[in-house]
Amino acid sequence: MNRLIKIDGDKNYFECEPGYRFGELEAALRGKDLFFPPAPSSGEYATFGGMYGTNASGSQSVKYGNVADYILDAEVVLSSGNLITLSDIVARPYDRLPENLKNLYTLYARQSQKIETSYPPIRYNSSGYNLRGLVQNDRLDLTRLLAGSEGTLGIVTRLKFRLAPKPLHDSLVVAGFDDIVSSAKAVQKILPMGPSGIEILEKSLLQLVRENDPGLKDKIPGDVDNILLIEFDGPDAQTCVHQAQEVQQLLESEGLAASIRMAVSDERVKKDIAADRGCSGAHGSAGTVF
Ligand SMILES: Cc1cc2nc3c(=O)[nH]c(=O)nc-3n(C[C@H](O)[C@H](O)[C@H](O)COP(=O)(O)OP(=O)(O)OC[C@H]3O[C@@H](n4cnc5c(N)ncnc54)[C@H](O)[C@@H]3O)c2cc1C
Repeated sequence: MNRLIKIDGDKNYFECEPGYRFGELEAALRGKDLFFPPAPSSGEYATFGGMYGTNASGSQSVKYGNVADYILDAEVVLSSGNLITLSDIVARPYDRLPENLKNLYTLYARQSQKIETSYPPIRYNSSGYNLRGLVQNDRLDLTRLLAGSEGTLGIVTRLKFRLAPKPLHDSLVVAGFDDIVSSAKAVQKILPMGPSGIEILEKSLLQLVRENDPGLKDKIPGDVDNILLIEFDGPDAQTCVHQAQEVQQLLESEGLAASIRMAVSDERVKKDIAADRGCSGAHGSAGTVF
């Protein structure tokens, strides 16, 4: 069950079987103006069944959200052996739901106030089941509950996901820090600036790279404790450059970063070239360093 079923470039969606991999979709979308934003670093081998099962995200989740934000429909086998499609369930009034889903509906309705107010106010939470928004407009919507449920509620056999228009331009700031507290402070200040991605390469990872890749060893200063990769994207190249410059100025004026480099690509196609070389995801873009 690892096939791509369909990419619809006009209606911006694709359908696949659960064993289809993110890396395969990236290759299939190359040259098109669409992309699937929640890109886990394991994307080359992560399957869409597994990505839905873990509600995966990537470094760009700060702007683009998680897999649950992109699911349109799924076909699921329940423990009863019954096959359901989520679009069919959401179309049914309460009376026409199967008995087990009626129970779920009632359970939510009884506890809805507690459910909607008790989750911590954070952007990404994959702990436990996501019960929020389970009943909307008197209809049972299972899409978010199943995302991150790790196969415990049913086995997904077919998936349909929304695709997003690919931004034309981007910029990247690579900042090295002396300690983790400084990079954490920097993240708090950069988030309100609207980055499309933030990822940390922390101490142990940098150490592994230094020990195992002689080519990269010289490029990572020995005294750098961790590195933040901060990305901006959008339709306008100049805006992306300015946003990167603002981050640079912020980090310099606050004295937070030990070293800062910028990379700006004026054509998104450079990402595809980088992806071809095996650097999947947002940070494959080498761009123009200045
Ligand atoms: C090096 C590395 C980097 C990673 N980086 C990230 C990251 O950046 N972001 C992130 O979110 N995660 C990351 N992960 C975690 C994980 O790789 C991802 O969440 C990925 O989406 C899991 O996909 P998989 O195909 O490996 O799924 P699996 O590990 O095979 O499955 C994941 C879960 O989904 C369930 N599942 C799988 N298929 C189905 C199905 N058909 N129906 C119902 N349930 C199913 C499984 O039971 C399991 O509970 C990383 C992991 C590694 C090893």
